[in-house]
Amino acid sequence: MTKLSDFASAKLADLETRNLRRTLVDTLRTDGIWVNRGGRRLLSFSCNDYLNLTHDPRVKQAAIAAIETYGTGAGASRLITGNCPVFGELEARLAAHKHTDAACLFGSGYLANTGIIPVIVGEGDLLVMDELAHSCLWTGAKLSRADILTFRHNDVGHARELLAIRANYGNALIVTESIFSMDGDAAPVADLAQLARDTACWLMTDDAHGLGVCETDSSGVDLKMGTLSKALASYGGYVCADGAVVDLLKTRARTVVYSTGLPPASAAAALTALDIMEKDPQLAARPLRNAQAFTDACGLPRAQSAVVPVLLHDELVALEAQQMLEREGFLAVAIRPPTVPKGTARLRLAFTAQHPEDEIARLAALVRDRVLPLKPQA
Ligand SMILES: *Cc1c(COP(=O)(O)O)cnc(C)c1O
Repeated sequence: MTKLSDFASAKLADLETRNLRRTLVDTLRTDGIWVNRGGRRLLSFSCNDYLNLTHDPRVKQAAIAAIETYGTGAGASRLITGNCPVFGELEARLAAHKHTDAACLFGSGYLANTGIIPVIVGEGDLLVMDELAHSCLWTGAKLSRADILTFRHNDVGHARELLAIRANYGNALIVTESIFSMDGDAAPVADLAQLARDTACWLMTDDAHGLGVCETDSSGVDLKMGTLSKALASYGGYVCADGAVVDLLKTRARTVVYSTGLPPASAAAALTALDIMEKDPQLAARPLRNAQAFTDACGLPRAQSAVVPVLLHDELVALEAQQMLEREGFLAVAIRPPTVPKGTARLRLAFTAQHPEDEIARLAALVRDRVLPLKPQA
């Protein structure tokens, strides 16, 4: 019998030799864009705090007031005693924002996706998923026990081909991200909605990187899932849908039933962030504008969202690029498999509202002159 710690050490050594080991680095985020790591102040292009609202005084004050009133924790599952009144208020606001009857909050986006999918489909049903869908969508998919088919990234024709076997199944659900978390491109949501109508499927989108940054038309989407942890500067997840669908999720989703309600302060912070975001379209326009200023300056394809991938393919090259940029005062964390497919290691840059223009230009020059040339020739 192998000792558990020997097992762990061997696994770690293997990851190390493949440049795939990851470690936690203390990072002080004392404002919305600058971080402090190992005593150095770095401008972060790796935070998903797209509107820089995590440190907004109004958002912080809302969280503090909620703690003063409701305490720090929800105390129980929402279905027992953990349903703080702020949750209903935020759900109504999210539903209005996404033009649905209702919404359901979850403890996180991860918990939302793992909770939702198994309520909607099960054994004898079919899931049709974009190959680049987020890890937690896959976790939900596997938990559901439905058969899973994977279509090539954003290839609606391929999804249609796969659905030739639709008639063999009971219910069917198409799943995608509206803005892809590691590639920053937009899904063809309108075409997928048409496909869903043509083939009697339901459609679910994960809008983690769309909300508040580049919100695309979501008509025809049955389940509009998203997170409070990115543009909304807090923590928690949600789905917007028809009233009956939401009621079913609230009574059946395991991550609602068997998990404590999210901290009231998280919901209160997100509510205020949503307010700010809706009242200030100028603010919400800035992350995309900044991303496009960057891609225009370094000759990459024009950004479709706040997320810009700089593909380097090789893990070590991506790590070296990260280190070089860190020496120049930028934090741009290398993203490696299994977060992205094998052979597609990259820097994933996230642009936010307050990134200064001159710093974006300096980063663009570094990426153009010193990062892109590192890319191994195919
Ligand atoms: C971040 C993310 C999630 C998870 O959301 P959390 O609230 O951080 O748990 C889900 N889906 C996508 C596409 C994401 O990028």
